[in-house]
Amino acid sequence: MLVVMKKGSGDTELTGVIHKITQSGLTGHVSKGMERTVVGVVGQTYPELRDMLELLPGVEEVIPISKPYKLSSREFQHEDTRIQIGDVTIGGDTLTIIAGPCAVESEKQVLDTARAVKEAGANILRGGAFKPSTSPYQFRGLGKEGLEILALARSETGMPLITEVLTPHDVDLVARYADILQIGARNMQNFILLDEVGKTKKPVMLKRGMSATIQEWLLSAEYILSQGNRRLMLCERGIRTFETYTRNTMDISAIPTIKKLSHLPIIGDPSHGTGKWYLVPPLALAAVAAGADGVMIEVHPNPDQALKDGAQSLTFDSFRQFMAQLAPLASALNRKLPASPEERGSD
Ligand code: PEP
Ligand code: MN
Repeated sequence: MLVVMKKGSGDTELTGVIHKITQSGLTGHVSKGMERTVVGVVGQTYPELRDMLELLPGVEEVIPISKPYKLSSREFQHEDTRIQIGDVTIGGDTLTIIAGPCAVESEKQVLDTARAVKEAGANILRGGAFKPSTSPYQFRGLGKEGLEILALARSETGMPLITEVLTPHDVDLVARYADILQIGARNMQNFILLDEVGKTKKPVMLKRGMSATIQEWLLSAEYILSQGNRRLMLCERGIRTFETYTRNTMDISAIPTIKKLSHLPIIGDPSHGTGKWYLVPPLALAAVAAGADGVMIEVHPNPDQALKDGAQSLTFDSFRQFMAQLAPLASALNRKLPASPEERGSD
């Protein structure tokens, strides 16, 4: 249920509405937009509540929402969410370019990659220190040492970091290092983990589960939002289909669908979406053309020797070529690319 406040109504009326909602054993989440203030009522609502809320001073109307997700919906918040991290804005006119290795392997590998992707125009560095692994015999990450390497790369390049947190127990540790907490596909429905990252003040990127419907994905987003963390973005990383040529099927249609249903920024991940390096640039372009707020791309100094996901990793050269292909598309779509070091002038 959404309570739409009258234009010109003030904090007293808003407090009255929240009070009534709380008294009824429910929670009210406020969205102050340019046009209107809306209170999302979360919990087990009942029909009489609508009449009661409609009688309160300052209330324009009460709209029942039939969708099970509320706070992630466009009805709750009409304007796109923008997430500010230093001078990087996710969800604005500027595309967000996240790049880096699948896994942190060594200081040199991360520093070399960070410098190369920054030079080519990326504005966020990725790298997994805690790696989810289908097989227990695969590389599972360097853990805390990996986080320290990433932090070193951030202080060298100034790029914010995104890295995955695998368990509720690691949230505090990872949040001490990361600028964005990544929830991986395998954990999209780890509800305890979603609650925990929802309690932090860190931006979160929620990847789509490999067999998750869009509704299930938005309900997972709801876990994070309803804990009070509104700095949330989504990531389409491909889903399981009958096709075996590609690792996953990159669901491009999910991007404009999310844009229609939700105000949350969405990032395309064609590396996991395809599993093949030569499919990464075309699918990244397709994601941007379909309205993505940015892309996340795996890049490795030597994909042949990568401990994880080498087959889908771009070399420094192929990442540079991709960025050159992206430029005319971005300008045709009126989207900006992150400023290059020369444009920034400082470094
Ligand atoms: C990753 O980003 O390296 C990763 C493990 O992705 P996913 O959770 O989408 O498989
Ligand atoms: Mn990977």
